[in-house]
Amino acid sequence: MAAAISTVSESRDFRSLSLVAAHSHIRGLGVDSGTLDVKSSSQGLVGQEKARKAAAVILKMVQEGKIAGRAVLIAGPPSTGKTAIAMGMAQALGSETPFTVLASSEIFSLEMSKTEALTQAFRRSIGVRIKEESELIEGEVVEIQIDRSLTGGNKQGKLTIKTTDMETIYDMGTKMIDAMSKERVMAGDVISIDKSSGKITKLGRSYTRSRDYDAMGADTKFVQCPDGELQKRKEVVHTVSLHEIDVINSRSQGFLALFSGDTGEIRSEVRDQINVKIGEWKEEGKAEIVPGVLFIDEVHMLDIECFSYINRALEDELAPIVIMASNRGHARIRGTSYRSPHGLPLDFLDRVVIVSTHAYTFDEIKQILAIRAQEEEVDLSPDALLLLTKVGQEAGLRYASNLIITSSLVSNKRKAKAVVVDDVERSYRLFLDPTRSVQFVAEQNTRLIG
Ligand code: ATP
Repeated sequence: MAAAISTVSESRDFRSLSLVAAHSHIRGLGVDSGTLDVKSSSQGLVGQEKARKAAAVILKMVQEGKIAGRAVLIAGPPSTGKTAIAMGMAQALGSETPFTVLASSEIFSLEMSKTEALTQAFRRSIGVRIKEESELIEGEVVEIQIDRSLTGGNKQGKLTIKTTDMETIYDMGTKMIDAMSKERVMAGDVISIDKSSGKITKLGRSYTRSRDYDAMGADTKFVQCPDGELQKRKEVVHTVSLHEIDVINSRSQGFLALFSGDTGEIRSEVRDQINVKIGEWKEEGKAEIVPGVLFIDEVHMLDIECFSYINRALEDELAPIVIMASNRGHARIRGTSYRSPHGLPLDFLDRVVIVSTHAYTFDEIKQILAIRAQEEEVDLSPDALLLLTKVGQEAGLRYASNLIITSSLVSNKRKAKAVVVDDVERSYRLFLDPTRSVQFVAEQNTRLIG
């Protein structure tokens, strides 16, 4: 399953969908998580071994909780896999990890303030895994806690049994523990308890059987049905983003706004309340936070206010992994007259881990295009693949990759099964790459003006 992907402006989904679809062949980083060995082609990624290894190290830091307050910058020439690697990181983190793509220029065109747009992007990138249980019968035992610190060797501990209405808490201490050991109650047994005497009757076993009574700590769950029938308790788990919770709870827009994409600005009080609620759910074990990946493309397009926002946001307890990409060297920091590496303010650069990507070799381009063709279910003749690779070397991987589908449309027209050189040539003439397109416009201009 693909990582959960969302984009900053649903109304602009079209653009971002194609952005994500271009990476649909990527299933991970292709790096062994234990040894950090990189395979030259694995999980859809080809070459760029150093950057992939660095990305895997960063993932380790994330998993060990050592990334807090830091961000990642992937710097390298256009079409060298910066987005692809970020996507690989999100995939490696698991299928439920939210992956949000934000093109920096979008920040300036949305009908909301820059900080609101950034806040939404950050909150889209944090998943909340909510656990819900299907309805239980009133009075059934859902939880037995044994405070083993008190039990010592002689069963002197405290035993608490919670029922579904959660108000009935039997705290029967040693008496209950004795009864439980007499009945040889194991984890997963279905039991009934007589409220007045504390007598335990074994009714059967539930599906939750996991550990032995002796080995269990606190929080072992039991399911009991009054008629002794075993009943599976369904645990429904679903992951939503913090942003979705914000939208649903924001009264003026509500749930429907999620569909229209017209979420507008969300009041900060709504977000504060939601943070508090999520904190409570977390404590109660009802929810888990799944930090996702926020990928900020063309980061040099952000301005100084955006950087100071991100600087602060990275410190937040609920921060996603921020991965930025830039294909600029030195650039002016927008909103100032200063120039700096990648157009990032120096204090921000201090907290950035930089990974660099380099241009691909002929063979690597060929392999990537072959994978893309397979992904798009297009049969390329060996010669067509060679020609596409040459095009890729000259006009960029993205352009060559786009030619796969257009060439296949051309070949479909002649009802051919495979794409041949002629199909590629035709679509090369039909669709210009940026360099030829600029040249064409320039020529037209001179003709018109001259
Ligand atoms: P830009 O700077 O222009 O935003 P980029 O560095 O983010 O470019 P991508 O968009 O990741 O480049 O790469 C272009 C296309 O090539 C995408 O379809 C991407 O999935 C694919 N691609 C790039 N690098 C690799 C790779 N190492 N392995 C497999 N596919 C790749």
